[in-house]
Amino acid sequence: MSIINIKLLKNRLSLLGILGIVIVSYVLCNKAVTEQPGLAVISSTMFNGDPVEGKVVKTDAEWREILTEEQFYILRQKGTEPAYSGELNDVKEKGIFICAGCGNELFSSDTKFESGTGWPSYYEPISQANVSLAEDNSLFMKRTEILCSRCGGHLGHLFDDGPQPTGLRYCINSDAMTFEKEKK
Ligand SMILES: [Zn+2]
Repeated sequence: MSIINIKLLKNRLSLLGILGIVIVSYVLCNKAVTEQPGLAVISSTMFNGDPVEGKVVKTDAEWREILTEEQFYILRQKGTEPAYSGELNDVKEKGIFICAGCGNELFSSDTKFESGTGWPSYYEPISQANVSLAEDNSLFMKRTEILCSRCGGHLGHLFDDGPQPTGLRYCINSDAMTFEKEKK
Protein backbone atom coordinates (compact mmCIF):
# COMPACT_ATOMS: atom_id res chain seq x y z
CA MET A 1 0.00 0.00 0.00
CA SER A 2 1.35 3.40 -0.85
CA ILE A 3 1.82 6.11 1.79
CA ILE A 4 -1.05 8.11 0.31
CA ASN A 5 -3.39 5.14 0.65
CA ILE A 6 -2.40 4.60 4.29
CA LYS A 7 -2.97 8.29 5.02
CA LEU A 8 -6.38 8.12 3.38
CA LEU A 9 -7.26 5.02 5.38
CA LYS A 10 -6.19 6.69 8.63
CA ASN A 11 -8.30 9.74 7.83
CA ARG A 12 -11.30 7.56 7.10
CA LEU A 13 -10.86 5.59 10.31
CA SER A 14 -10.64 8.71 12.48
CA LEU A 15 -13.69 10.12 10.70
CA LEU A 16 -15.58 6.90 11.47
CA GLY A 17 -14.45 7.16 15.09
CA ILE A 18 -15.75 10.69 15.44
CA LEU A 19 -19.02 9.75 13.76
CA GLY A 20 -19.34 6.82 16.17
CA ILE A 21 -18.87 9.06 19.21
CA VAL A 22 -21.43 11.54 17.88
CA ILE A 23 -24.02 8.79 17.33
CA VAL A 24 -23.42 7.18 20.77
CA SER A 25 -23.66 10.61 22.46
CA TYR A 26 -26.88 11.38 20.65
CA VAL A 27 -28.46 8.05 21.63
CA LEU A 28 -27.37 8.41 25.28
CA CYS A 29 -28.57 12.00 25.52
CA ASN A 30 -31.98 11.25 24.10
CA LYS A 31 -32.70 7.90 25.71
CA ALA A 32 -33.35 9.03 29.24
CA VAL A 33 -36.59 10.71 30.23
CA THR A 34 -36.67 12.49 33.57
CA GLU A 35 -39.46 11.42 35.88
CA GLN A 36 -40.33 13.54 38.85
CA PRO A 37 -43.54 12.19 40.37
CA GLY A 38 -46.11 14.87 41.00
CA LEU A 39 -44.25 17.55 39.10
CA ALA A 40 -45.35 18.84 35.75
CA VAL A 41 -42.47 18.85 33.28
CA ILE A 42 -42.84 21.26 30.44
CA SER A 43 -40.84 21.76 27.33
CA SER A 44 -38.25 24.50 27.52
CA THR A 45 -39.08 25.37 23.92
CA MET A 46 -42.23 27.16 25.13
CA PHE A 47 -40.15 30.32 25.51
CA ASN A 48 -38.94 30.36 21.94
CA GLY A 49 -42.24 31.29 20.38
CA ASP A 50 -44.22 34.51 20.19
CA PRO A 51 -44.47 36.66 23.30
CA VAL A 52 -47.02 35.27 25.73
CA GLU A 53 -49.06 37.64 27.90
CA GLY A 54 -47.25 38.29 31.18
CA LYS A 55 -44.10 36.67 29.90
CA VAL A 56 -40.89 38.60 29.39
CA VAL A 57 -39.45 37.93 25.96
CA LYS A 58 -36.29 39.67 24.76
CA THR A 59 -33.67 39.10 22.11
CA ASP A 60 -30.17 38.05 23.16
CA ALA A 61 -28.95 41.57 22.35
CA GLU A 62 -31.59 43.06 24.65
CA TRP A 63 -30.69 40.61 27.44
CA ARG A 64 -27.01 41.48 27.11
CA GLU A 65 -27.89 45.12 27.74
CA ILE A 66 -29.45 44.47 31.14
CA LEU A 67 -27.54 41.42 32.39
CA THR A 68 -23.94 41.03 33.52
CA GLU A 69 -21.80 38.57 31.58
CA GLU A 70 -22.22 35.94 34.33
CA GLN A 71 -25.99 36.46 34.50
CA PHE A 72 -26.30 36.15 30.71
CA TYR A 73 -24.18 32.98 30.69
CA ILE A 74 -26.40 31.29 33.27
CA LEU A 75 -29.88 32.64 32.48
CA ARG A 76 -29.71 32.74 28.69
CA GLN A 77 -27.02 30.14 27.86
CA LYS A 78 -27.88 27.58 30.55
CA GLY A 79 -24.48 27.93 32.17
CA THR A 80 -23.46 26.90 35.67
CA GLU A 81 -21.34 28.99 38.00
CA PRO A 82 -18.50 27.29 39.91
CA ALA A 83 -19.54 25.90 43.31
CA TYR A 84 -19.09 28.30 46.25
CA SER A 85 -18.51 31.22 43.82
CA GLY A 86 -21.92 32.87 44.17
CA GLU A 87 -22.67 35.64 46.66
CA LEU A 88 -26.11 34.31 47.57
CA ASN A 89 -24.90 30.87 48.66
CA ASP A 90 -24.09 32.14 52.16
CA VAL A 91 -27.03 34.52 52.59
CA LYS A 92 -28.80 33.66 55.84
CA GLU A 93 -30.94 36.79 56.23
CA LYS A 94 -34.69 36.84 55.80
CA GLY A 95 -35.88 37.92 52.38
CA ILE A 96 -36.82 36.92 48.88
CA PHE A 97 -34.67 35.67 46.02
CA ILE A 98 -35.84 37.08 42.69
CA CYS A 99 -34.95 36.35 39.05
CA ALA A 100 -32.03 38.53 37.94
CA GLY A 101 -33.58 38.69 34.48
CA CYS A 102 -37.16 39.77 35.15
CA GLY A 103 -37.68 40.27 38.89
CA ASN A 104 -39.99 37.27 39.25
CA GLU A 105 -40.18 36.15 42.91
CA LEU A 106 -38.60 32.70 43.03
CA PHE A 107 -37.61 31.54 46.51
CA SER A 108 -38.06 32.63 50.12
CA SER A 109 -35.25 32.50 52.67
CA ASP A 110 -37.64 30.40 54.79
CA THR A 111 -37.10 27.43 52.46
CA LYS A 112 -33.33 27.89 51.98
CA PHE A 113 -31.12 25.24 53.52
CA GLU A 114 -27.42 24.42 53.68
CA SER A 115 -26.96 21.65 51.12
CA GLY A 116 -23.16 21.63 51.21
CA THR A 117 -23.08 21.76 47.40
CA GLY A 118 -21.84 25.34 47.03
CA TRP A 119 -25.05 26.54 45.36
CA PRO A 120 -28.06 28.23 46.99
CA SER A 121 -30.54 25.44 47.74
CA TYR A 122 -34.25 25.53 48.57
CA TYR A 123 -36.81 22.85 49.27
CA GLU A 124 -39.62 24.65 47.44
CA PRO A 125 -40.31 27.77 45.34
CA ILE A 126 -42.47 30.69 46.49
CA SER A 127 -45.13 29.41 44.09
CA GLN A 128 -45.10 26.38 41.79
CA ALA A 129 -46.37 28.75 39.09
CA ASN A 130 -43.26 30.93 39.31
CA VAL A 131 -40.85 28.23 38.14
CA SER A 132 -41.08 25.83 35.22
CA LEU A 133 -39.42 22.44 34.87
CA ALA A 134 -37.97 20.83 31.78
CA GLU A 135 -36.17 17.62 30.96
CA ASP A 136 -32.45 18.12 30.58
CA ASN A 137 -30.45 15.26 29.12
CA SER A 138 -27.28 17.24 28.42
CA LEU A 139 -23.78 16.26 29.57
CA PHE A 140 -24.70 12.55 29.70
CA MET A 141 -26.96 13.20 32.69
CA LYS A 142 -30.66 12.83 33.27
CA ARG A 143 -31.68 15.97 35.12
CA THR A 144 -34.64 18.28 35.60
CA GLU A 145 -33.93 21.85 34.64
CA ILE A 146 -35.52 24.72 36.59
CA LEU A 147 -36.51 27.82 34.61
CA CYS A 148 -38.07 31.14 35.51
CA SER A 149 -41.71 30.96 34.41
CA ARG A 150 -41.80 34.62 33.39
CA CYS A 151 -38.68 35.04 31.27
CA GLY A 152 -37.64 31.45 30.60
CA GLY A 153 -34.24 32.07 32.17
CA HIS A 154 -32.26 29.00 33.24
CA LEU A 155 -31.97 28.90 37.04
CA GLY A 156 -30.54 25.51 37.96
CA HIS A 157 -31.60 21.90 38.49
CA LEU A 158 -34.01 19.96 40.68
CA PHE A 159 -32.94 16.92 42.72
CA ASP A 160 -34.84 14.57 44.99
CA ASP A 161 -32.34 14.52 47.88
CA GLY A 162 -33.66 17.61 49.70
CA PRO A 163 -35.02 17.90 53.24
CA GLN A 164 -38.64 17.52 54.34
CA PRO A 165 -41.38 18.60 53.89
CA THR A 166 -40.82 18.15 50.13
CA GLY A 167 -37.69 16.00 49.92
CA LEU A 168 -36.68 18.16 46.96
CA ARG A 169 -33.57 20.28 46.39
CA TYR A 170 -33.91 23.25 44.07
CA CYS A 171 -30.22 23.82 43.27
CA ILE A 172 -29.99 27.37 41.92
CA ASN A 173 -27.17 29.45 40.49
CA SER A 174 -26.52 32.48 42.68
CA ASP A 175 -25.90 34.65 39.61
CA ALA A 176 -29.35 33.83 38.24
CA MET A 177 -30.94 35.70 41.14
CA THR A 178 -30.76 38.83 43.26
CA PHE A 179 -31.71 39.07 46.94
CA GLU A 180 -34.34 41.41 48.40
CA LYS A 181 -33.87 41.73 52.12
CA GLU A 182 -37.06 41.69 54.16
CA LYS A 183 -38.09 45.19 55.25
CA LYS A 184 -38.60 45.59 58.97
ZN1 LIG B 1 -37.13 35.60 35.06
